Amino acid sequence: MLDSRAAPLDIEQLTERELVYAILRWSALPGASRHHWGTDIDVYDENARPSGYEIELTPEEVDAGGMFAPLHEWLDQRLAAGAGHGFFRPYDQDRQGVAPERWHLSHTPVAATCEEGLTIDILRASLSSSDLKLKGTVLDHLEDIYRRFVINTNRNLS
Ligand SMILES: [Zn+2]
Repeated sequence: MLDSRAAPLDIEQLTERELVYAILRWSALPGASRHHWGTDIDVYDENARPSGYEIELTPEEVDAGGMFAPLHEWLDQRLAAGAGHGFFRPYDQDRQGVAPERWHLSHTPVAATCEEGLTIDILRASLSSSDLKLKGTVLDHLEDIYRRFVINTNRNLS
């Protein structure tokens, strides 16, 4: 497990709440993954991947100097020019929720419908009937989790 700056984290030292929040920094809450909507993808440049290198999707790969930085700089230019074909970066910067994910793109027209449909009540009902580990902790903090990790994107509907 990694902390909010992608440094290794000692999970033995964390409360259940801290553990849940540490997980949500890098992994979507079950039932709330934008990838599962079919609207969001993670992208990388296969031609820039060294032979045998396993993609990790970490900031070092996509930030300045990283192997995939040129792809993302080009994508930034396309998006800024209004030539992004409806895609945007929901996790373009640190909003104290999901960590910045430069590799993550979302197709706005379809994702907007999913964003509006995934209410906190639907999410609570889904989680309540699941056998999710740490479920009680998640449900105890669901309003904050929903605000911080589910709707807290570049489009921020709240
Ligand atoms: Zn992603």
